[in-house]
Amino acid sequence: MIYLDHAATTPVLEASLRAAWPWLTTEFGNPSSTHELGLRAKVALDDARARTAKAIAARPSEVYFTSGATEANNLAIKGIALANPRGRHIVSAKTEHESVLASIDYLVREHGFEVTWLEVDDWGMYTPDSLEAALRSDTTLVTLMWVNNETGTLQFIGSLSSICKERGVPMHVDAVQAATTEDVNMADYKVSAVSLSGHKLGAPKGSGMLFVRDGVPFEPQISGGGQEHGMRSGTENVAWAVAFATAIEITRYRSPEPFTLPDTRRFIERVIADVPGARLTGHEVQRSPMIASFVFEGVSGETVLLELERHGIVCSSGSACAAGRDEPSHVLTAMGFDEDLARTAVRFSFAKRFSNQKSTAEQSDYDLDRIVDVLREVVLTLRGRLNS
Ligand code: PMP
Repeated sequence: MIYLDHAATTPVLEASLRAAWPWLTTEFGNPSSTHELGLRAKVALDDARARTAKAIAARPSEVYFTSGATEANNLAIKGIALANPRGRHIVSAKTEHESVLASIDYLVREHGFEVTWLEVDDWGMYTPDSLEAALRSDTTLVTLMWVNNETGTLQFIGSLSSICKERGVPMHVDAVQAATTEDVNMADYKVSAVSLSGHKLGAPKGSGMLFVRDGVPFEPQISGGGQEHGMRSGTENVAWAVAFATAIEITRYRSPEPFTLPDTRRFIERVIADVPGARLTGHEVQRSPMIASFVFEGVSGETVLLELERHGIVCSSGSACAAGRDEPSHVLTAMGFDEDLARTAVRFSFAKRFSNQKSTAEQSDYDLDRIVDVLREVVLTLRGRLNS
């Protein structure tokens, strides 16, 4: 099987799981326990936090381990918006992840917040001008993603965050799909909060973190024993924190495991040239090399997926969180695609290949030329069937 759905999830790195293993087995203590086993677990947790902080140029006090980015997005958006005394106005965009949109919806419904949705252009880009225009004296939070999970469009997050900083408005960034390739460096990017998900980086599913800059007020969303600096109660998942720290170190330092990136540019060029009616979604240049999504006018995206799978290639029609619903992608419709065209979307998403990893079935074949050939055949056959 050729697995091209790494934006949905990617295999766990051996180094990440090995690092976690002792904290699931012999060293199983609860970090809040005062006996030896608990103290060792606490040291491991502190160490994971310090290593994670260092990897993103943050302070350990700014790292909150969570069960992933859905939780981190909820915590950041509800937690910061509700704690900020400036007012009840949020700025975001309709192309954001479901966990962001649903958190905003909750604030609107239950707490009377108003939202300004930034205009996105045909490529899904937010412009600094539209952000400037959207900010108000009562804006409590701006929440925008770095790389779109469906299209791969890469935002100018540095310019957007500078505007928020100048205007004194906290900004939260969903950096889930950016973290594999972009410089997630909290010393350089003056954002207030950033969400990351472990299972997109080679840590297990159910691991992740929220960065919140020291001094940014935010309200806990899970109350209890006061773990995670009082902001996220619940016995800490030491093993997954250790696994996450290991995966983010490998991702950020790019060593000791050298890797190669897929040649997405060539893949896109070939699909556009060789697959009749294929059109790239998202920005042509300002994009992540890990995601390439296309629409194929007149051909159902779900059928293309099924046919590709018959040929041993698995990918997705867009966000895994929305898969299975017969609704067109909210991202593509927000970008101006009509609903029928949005239903034809197929997303290919790639992984870095680590040279010292054993070649698994999923990773052994990155022959992108062969994938284009199969895609061309599938789309031509489906068009032929439609026309006959
Ligand atoms: N944000 C983005 C951009 C994502 O792609 C995802 C995962 N699909 C999430 C948030 C949610 O992450 P998790 O699966 O860790 O909850």
